[in-house]
Order: sequence, then C-alpha cells, then structure tokens
Amino acid sequence: MSSFKPGETVVLSQRVRRITAPNPGMMTGPGTNTYLVGNAELAVIDPGPAIHEHIDAILQAAADMRAPIRWILCTHTHIDHSPAANRLREATDAPVIGQIARHPKSQDASFKPDHHWQHGDFIRNDEFTLRAVHTPGHASNHLCFYLEEEQTLFTGDHIMEGSTVVIAPPDGDMLAYMNSLHQLKELPLRYLAPAHGNRIDNPLQIIEALIWHRTLRERKTLEKMQQLGPCTLATLTPSVYDEVPAFLHGVAQMSLLAHLLKLEQDQVVERNDDIWRIRE
Ligand SMILES: [Zn+2]
Repeated sequence: MSSFKPGETVVLSQRVRRITAPNPGMMTGPGTNTYLVGNAELAVIDPGPAIHEHIDAILQAAADMRAPIRWILCTHTHIDHSPAANRLREATDAPVIGQIARHPKSQDASFKPDHHWQHGDFIRNDEFTLRAVHTPGHASNHLCFYLEEEQTLFTGDHIMEGSTVVIAPPDGDMLAYMNSLHQLKELPLRYLAPAHGNRIDNPLQIIEALIWHRTLRERKTLEKMQQLGPCTLATLTPSVYDEVPAFLHGVAQMSLLAHLLKLEQDQVVERNDDIWRIRE
C-alpha cells in the first residue's frame, strides 16, 4: 500500500510515474492521480485540478527528469481531472488531447482540446505507445489510455481503486458503463492505473467484481420493485440502498436512476411521469 503524499513523484514502473494532487475528499479519495509516462519525453495523463502546487509539481518532475512534456491527455472533463491542462499547455506548448463532453453541465468548461481523440487513436515514440480506449459510462467522453509496452491501462474514473464510481445521468450511462467494462476484458492487462487510489495488480478480477456488483444492484432493484409495485425514484432508493447510510442516499439516487434507465433501455421497466414499474 503506497502512501499518497501530494506533490511527491512515485515511480511505479520503468515508464510510469505518479503525482497525486492535493485534493483529497469523499469523491476523490486520496486525491487525483496525475501520471507521467516516458523518460526521454513525457505524456501527462490527467493533469488534474488547476492547483498551483500541483502544476508546479508536474513541471518540477519533468525538469528533474530533463524530459520535455510533449502531450497532455485527459481521460474526461470532470473538474478534478482536466482544469490544469490549459496552464500546463501554456507552460510547455504540448497539445491537449481528449474529448468534449456531450453534456457540458458540471464539467470543466475551460477544456479545449487541440486533438479530439476517438477510440483507437494513439501516440507512439521510441519508448511507448499510448492508445485511446473509449469507455463511456462514468462520463460520455471518457477515454482510458492503454500503455501497450507495459499492458497497463490508465483508467481515469472508469475504474477506481477501492470503490465504485458514480454514474450520474444524463452524462453518466449505466448500460454504456457495463458495455465499457466488458470491452476491457478483451485487452491483455497486467495493471490498472486509476485516477484515484493505488495501482491495481489483478485487473480481470476487479473488472469481473465491478460487473458483478452492478449486476447484483440491478437484481435488487427489480426485487424491490416487485415488492413495492409502481413507485417513484425517491421511494425506491432507501429500499434498494438499505445498507447505505441515509446521508449518501442523494448520490445513491443518481446511481439508481442510472440503473432504471438501463433497465428501461433493456425494456425490462417502464416509466410514466415519475412512476416506475416493471413491464408486463
Ligand atoms: Zn469523473
């Protein structure tokens, strides 16, 4: 278990270093992880929040390595991931790479990528290849980045260490999230490097556990709907999340809505105004 000292550069492998931003919290765990990939020239993955000390720590790490920052990659545009991109671009002239979110509300409005990447787009030099894997679900514009030479996937918020991620509609989409998890099973994976928490050394086990966790929640949703009959989201939430403390039911309600919208897409449930019911 490595510690998370903000600003400290942690060497994770031959090509990967991690610097954690000083933004710990309920949604960010120990803080946002920024990754530096490479030795001779660097790709920065998830520059993080626009906090001076954090940006300085990234620039200092690059200076210590005597390596220029050539690319700035953002997994998605939640405010703990991409706002430092602009200042890092100003300081380095490196292009910013990522996608604009389909639903800009509650996203980093300052995000203006120089390159709008699609699934499969990549950068390559003598040392490494980083390839985009489009993983919508947590966010519509979410990209994971696959470091081929180390079979390591930078998972952003698609997968965090130690907790499940928030799926908040309309930008969050549970059906897309599940499909994105299944898609990752096709990749040869040794490590997952999440934006929050430690490196994950048993990727397939974790991916299967996350799929199972969501599947169980979906089953419980249907069981409770059978018991309650037609119901609103607000009445269903405390039943489906009866093991979760009440102060978290606001977040739980968003996740439950995501489950219900998936079940609606699967044609298992239907909605009439605010009332949800299982389809006949
Ligand atoms: Zn996020």
